[in-house]
Amino acid sequence: MKFNVAAEMKQPGRAGSYEALETCPTQSYLGRQIEFASPLAVRAAYVYDGEGFTVKGEAQVTLCSECARCGKSFEEPFGFAFEERFVKNPGPDDECYPMGSEELDIAKMVFDNLFLNLPLHSVCSEDCKGLCPVCGCDLNLVQCACVGAEDKAINPFAKLETLLYHDKEV
Ligand SMILES: [Zn+2]
Ligand SMILES: [Zn+2]
Repeated sequence: MKFNVAAEMKQPGRAGSYEALETCPTQSYLGRQIEFASPLAVRAAYVYDGEGFTVKGEAQVTLCSECARCGKSFEEPFGFAFEERFVKNPGPDDECYPMGSEELDIAKMVFDNLFLNLPLHSVCSEDCKGLCPVCGCDLNLVQCACVGAEDKAINPFAKLETLLYHDKEV
């Protein structure tokens, strides 16, 4: 995601545009593996102000996600926007990316923004029922009989109550 910006540097204020479709290898971020099911589509506009560039745009990609409820792998469309500044020699406290003498490389910036915008909680569908907490079956596919049984297992007096109740009845 590198491109020449010599022409725009000669005409501050005039916007240039950049588009790319990049196949990205698996990324790792905070111990998480991020896999892509499609190339990353990036569109950006960039303007030179005499000192640096402001780069603004958006990106779209399909993530290989895992459902937080049922654990199933599924493809999740994901998009995010970015706006960052590039200067030649950013200081340690500048929130700017470095640029070459006549070149911008926006790959690191795009990935930083991708990581920051990643969905925290992916679900395969809004009404995914998830897994049974007792037997682990996929409740989207089967309806197990655990729900009632779980209450009795949690309450040690359940059996006693049943006995007492039956005694009264008799
Ligand atoms: Zn699910
Ligand atoms: Zn169950």
